[in-house]
Amino acid sequence: MSTVSDWRNQADEQALVNDVSLDEPWPLVEKFNGLVRESGTKHEKRAFDYIGKRLKKHGVPHTIHTPTLLISVPRRARLEILAPERRLVTAKTPSMSLSTGGRWKRGQVAYVPTHHMGHIRGLFEGVGREMPEVVGKIVLTEGYASPGKVADFTKAGAIGAIFISPGDRIHEGICTTIWGSPDLDSWERKPTIPVVSVSKGDGAWLRDLARGGVVKARFSTKLDEGWVECPVCVAEIPGREAPEEFVLVHGHLDGWHQGIGDNATGNATLLELARVLWKHRDRLARTVRIAWWSGHSQGRYAGSVWYADEFGLDIDANCIAHINCDSTGCRWATVYEDIFWMSEAEGVGKAVIKDVTGLDAAGGRPLRAGDCSFSNIGVSTFYMLSSTMPKPLLEEKGYYPVGGCGANIAWHTEDDTLEIADRDNLLRDTKVYTVAAYRAANATLHPLDFRALADEMAGTLKAYGDAAGGAFDLSLPLAEAKALHADLDRWYLDRAGLDGRPASDPVVRAANATLRQLARVLVRINYTRAGRFRHDPAVDVPPLPDLAPAKTLAGIEPGGDRYHVTLTHLVRGRNRVTAALREARRLVAAP
Ligand SMILES: [Zn+2]
Repeated sequence: MSTVSDWRNQADEQALVNDVSLDEPWPLVEKFNGLVRESGTKHEKRAFDYIGKRLKKHGVPHTIHTPTLLISVPRRARLEILAPERRLVTAKTPSMSLSTGGRWKRGQVAYVPTHHMGHIRGLFEGVGREMPEVVGKIVLTEGYASPGKVADFTKAGAIGAIFISPGDRIHEGICTTIWGSPDLDSWERKPTIPVVSVSKGDGAWLRDLARGGVVKARFSTKLDEGWVECPVCVAEIPGREAPEEFVLVHGHLDGWHQGIGDNATGNATLLELARVLWKHRDRLARTVRIAWWSGHSQGRYAGSVWYADEFGLDIDANCIAHINCDSTGCRWATVYEDIFWMSEAEGVGKAVIKDVTGLDAAGGRPLRAGDCSFSNIGVSTFYMLSSTMPKPLLEEKGYYPVGGCGANIAWHTEDDTLEIADRDNLLRDTKVYTVAAYRAANATLHPLDFRALADEMAGTLKAYGDAAGGAFDLSLPLAEAKALHADLDRWYLDRAGLDGRPASDPVVRAANATLRQLARVLVRINYTRAGRFRHDPAVDVPPLPDLAPAKTLAGIEPGGDRYHVTLTHLVRGRNRVTAALREARRLVAAP
């Protein structure tokens, strides 16, 4: 048996699970139902005060920080079709889109078919195809106002965009590609066009009009944008053996409307987890930090990004893994599908769900979403969204994919109220998160199997190499990925005997420092391209993003600019990936 699947302490975990109840979580859910928790607002502050008060009552040490974040709160949107007939259409505007300040803008509508998201994985997709001429026009298209699509339309010269919601309700959202508050590198990517969304029915009518001839429209938006002091609450339960090493469990407190399934239930889970771990703190080998962020919904994860920046060096040195908690305990959410984990954490992610609930979990690579703000530092992660509705039930109800609420389409709408929460599911999911945090903190060796990541990378490199045909050679990094797997086999085997030793044991400490460094090196090349301590944009990130353009080579005419630019890009990417794999091998070669 490998050391990775061998860390479980069943008696302790059972004691924790037995203590998880709804006494603390459910009143939070009910309380939050009366608070619209937009980032940096009074209601949000009241929600943070509530969490602070409950933590204090249980004696859990915590700090409420007040960083200043760039926040954009949508206030009003109007859309009026002027020709071929006059009609007012109900509209909303997404956070971080350009505010017209309530002034009308007019133009001709150009329909650009994209598509509604077929799966939650499509949440950050761009247009992904050639576009017709849209310069000076208002683009009409399907789907959520995703950062990728808005950026593509802006680049193509559109003066505005109208998105057709997949349902009757218009879903709130945020459309910037800037991850967290901007810096000098990202500031220029601020969206520069106003954007509105309309319902499916209004959208279909508008689409038919646009297909039939010239459609003229005017629209106006109003958003409050500025640098706002926002609360971030972090509870810290110190470990007894190696307190500087910590697991970060976190979720966003701000949201849209009542935001019960997204994310009052997640906040309730975190509060209960804090209470139970504090009560059992004598069993905790390493520290668990529990964070409630502001700035997620109206600041593109600005709270977690602030934390990644402010505590970057500490996270770099000591963070074992981070676990995101969003949309736990929702109505009809009885299965664990679409659960996110990095390959090295798939084992622990699946095992915890199986052990606590008896259910098998399925999922894969984390999206560039959900406060996954620690990839540029190189921290492993598992979980993000929680349990979800079974596929047959979704089909039966005619539901389309959404980005939370356990797949309830109340997500990001006025309908996300108390009925979206489910007591039994909340209790079950809270147990899962409690064990996940405890197990990640208490495993003798951090529960991360980098052989799985080396395998994933080898698979990616093989696929990219095959797609490039003879045009680009990836055999060098592929050989390094395979060699890394072999080195890791030896490394884990050599440390199999450590199991049961305390976290403070110098040999255990050294082994875990190596595991954390492996994450720092490998997570960065598999999830990011921007520098360490920077933040990649909020757009889809393919595996080993430096080398993903190898897939496009076969479709590019050799000899031209595009071809040579792509080859130049790939040579640089191959250097970065190969050097990182060699660095990882050096880490595990050390005695
Ligand atoms: Zn959420």
